Amino acid sequence: MILPGATLGVLGGGQLGRMFTLAAITMGYRVVVLDPDPHSPAGHIADQHIQASYRDHAALQMLGDECNAITTEFENVPADSMEFLEQLCQVRPNAEAARIAQDRIREKTWLQEIGLPTAPFAPVYEANDLDDALSGLATPLLLKTASMGYDGKGQVKVTSLDDAYAAFSTLGDTPCVLEKMVELEREVSVILARGADGHTVVYPVGENRHRNGILDTTIVPAMITDEMSAEVTGMATRLADAMDYCGVLAVEFFCTPDGELLINEIATRPHNSGHYTVDACATSQFEQQVRVMCGLPPGDVSLHSPVVMTNLLGDIWAGGEPAWETILRQPRARLHLYGKREARAGRKMGHFNCLAASTDAALGIVAGIRETMGF
Ligand code: AMP
Repeated sequence: MILPGATLGVLGGGQLGRMFTLAAITMGYRVVVLDPDPHSPAGHIADQHIQASYRDHAALQMLGDECNAITTEFENVPADSMEFLEQLCQVRPNAEAARIAQDRIREKTWLQEIGLPTAPFAPVYEANDLDDALSGLATPLLLKTASMGYDGKGQVKVTSLDDAYAAFSTLGDTPCVLEKMVELEREVSVILARGADGHTVVYPVGENRHRNGILDTTIVPAMITDEMSAEVTGMATRLADAMDYCGVLAVEFFCTPDGELLINEIATRPHNSGHYTVDACATSQFEQQVRVMCGLPPGDVSLHSPVVMTNLLGDIWAGGEPAWETILRQPRARLHLYGKREARAGRKMGHFNCLAASTDAALGIVAGIRETMGF
């Protein structure tokens, strides 16, 4: 076990790295953040911020020498860099997990191989593949870049071959997946933590609502049947077992009107849809990340209150600093701001968790806050 007093490293210093750092510091660990951004939200509060590229071997060596264990806060850390660090200290999750999650083609192919359902898709490596890919799938479709896409970025709706050629070029002539646009009744996600010994704990299922492809709200418990909850929980656990995963894992699902459950994507780290755990669960997803990377047993995942998490995007800064008192006046609302210097439209700047006696009551409080704040 790696115990308090030891030094933990995190690759990436955005809001997920910041909340990891807060959890680790609270528990008595030192934290070193590697992130090229001089204004990295996690770098500001960590014991040390190594400001360098994720491919800078001297910087990686420094991080590896200083740390007892290293984790990541985003999938797109080069897997080679993680392999380099694996020579120096414990890295969790490992490079292999990142390699799968950072490429949609690899991810979906792997899910198919282990027998887990995804929306019908075809890989597109070059424009010449589009004709075949399109002929095997029913429109409408989405063309998504295989890597580096997030929050609905890097994806274009396609209904014809001409559309597909134009979209492939717009996306930069880079490998993509062409995927059937499925009818969505709802979207849910499962967050779990799995230790090196295979011991797994699974948080209550969250129901996710999006605006413009960006997560807007997570409602917990999700408004789904116990059977559906057991099914998604079972699939997420199977997936983690198949990877022999070690760390915090998020699995996003599409639920179709005819009861189908399809895996949209996986994230090998804490997830935006797990932010509710910070205020509504016995152990937050970030504390869990610390515990698992340190070889400690996972903490209790029980929910102590219904909760609604709402993201705060840069758009609401358009008229100046938002009226935070609207949220802070609510005794069971918890405000989290990430300390980002620049508020841009669509940029995740913070979130708030609203606890209440029921999810309906929490949604009512959120609606009132939104109306007053105008978003
Ligand atoms: P992604 O970046 O792939 O997670 O997509 C962002 C959001 O776009 C998802 O959470 C869905 O709301 C929507 N979306 C993505 N793929 C599909 C699809 N195949 N069918 C319907 N909606 C989708």
